[in-house]
Amino acid sequence: MKPKVFVTRQIPEAGLTRIREVCDLHVWESEMPAPYDQLTKRVGGMDGILCTLTERIDAALIDAAGAGLKVISQMAVGYDNIDVRAAAARGIPVGNTPGVLTDATADLAFALLLAAARRLTEGVEYIRSGHWTTWQPRHLLGADLSGATLGIIGLGRIGKAVAKRARGFDMRILATSRHLTDTEAEAHGATRVDLPTLLRDSDFVSLHTPLTPETRHLINRETLAQMKPSAILINSTRGGTVDQRALYEALRDGVIAGAALDVTDPEPIPLDDPILTLPNALVVPHIGSATVKTRDKMALMAAENLIAGVMGQPLPNQVKLP
Ligand code: NAP
Repeated sequence: MKPKVFVTRQIPEAGLTRIREVCDLHVWESEMPAPYDQLTKRVGGMDGILCTLTERIDAALIDAAGAGLKVISQMAVGYDNIDVRAAAARGIPVGNTPGVLTDATADLAFALLLAAARRLTEGVEYIRSGHWTTWQPRHLLGADLSGATLGIIGLGRIGKAVAKRARGFDMRILATSRHLTDTEAEAHGATRVDLPTLLRDSDFVSLHTPLTPETRHLINRETLAQMKPSAILINSTRGGTVDQRALYEALRDGVIAGAALDVTDPEPIPLDDPILTLPNALVVPHIGSATVKTRDKMALMAAENLIAGVMGQPLPNQVKLP
């Protein structure tokens, strides 16, 4: 009998085809995520679960799957939606998809940086609202990248890929992470600094840490106040790393000049969130890894983790507990 697996979303066909070769595949039918109570029912009796960041996988859900559950495979590199300790306590490995989405996510972070620096959304809105009457010498002036300082918080896979792009734009790069050495930073064209120095000296600050208890609201009223009034914040990691109310107030009051966000807290961002009313805030709907090739690779990688898990083999990419 084939192992029974539940896939919580309509993931790219490449992944589903691979899973069907080995498993008895059950997929959540709707394009919208499953409500938690439905999910709890559907995972019952499964050997494996393939999930995405829209599902909360907590201890109760793991228990609802039953004693036969052998693996949880996340189609993402971040796994803050999964209680990995609860899974480990039950001997269930958790898989994720590092690496294959690094370039796509770094591209998006850089697209946000450029768009905010050069005020692209304001320019688009200017035309659409019928205000473009002439070329203006003093209008929609943005920030240069060349010679500007980029502060990267979290010089991991994606942070390093962002640094690579920044070098091509002749930016000076500062970086911070907990275990970063001078040598490692220098290998990526960056200077290792502490967080206060990074916030004080950067023209652009880009977040690339995972969301953990330590990084939740890393950007808050106090840290925003340490940034330059001309600074632009880019967040393509997880919405929870930023205190969004504090960011709104900082953007409104000119504490910093702009922000470009791929991720918000919560997601989707409510339409009445005041941040959406600000001309200096650019928000896109969590599309960091959203390219055709990258999503195919993520689906395949998550499928291989799932298959290895249900077969009782080591996962090609298993999340390690810190
Ligand atoms: P990674 O290689 O593990 O890099 C994470 C970096 O953050 C590491 O350098 C880590 O270094 C640093 N870090 C962790 N905790 C920190 C802290 N408290 N303070 C400062 N630095 C800290 O992960 P990755 O593949 O680059 O992915 C990073 C995150 O991007 C993921 O966790 C995910 O949330 C997000 N992401 C978003 C999208 C999207 O669609 N927008 C797509 C992919 C990934 P130390 O351990 O030395 O501190």
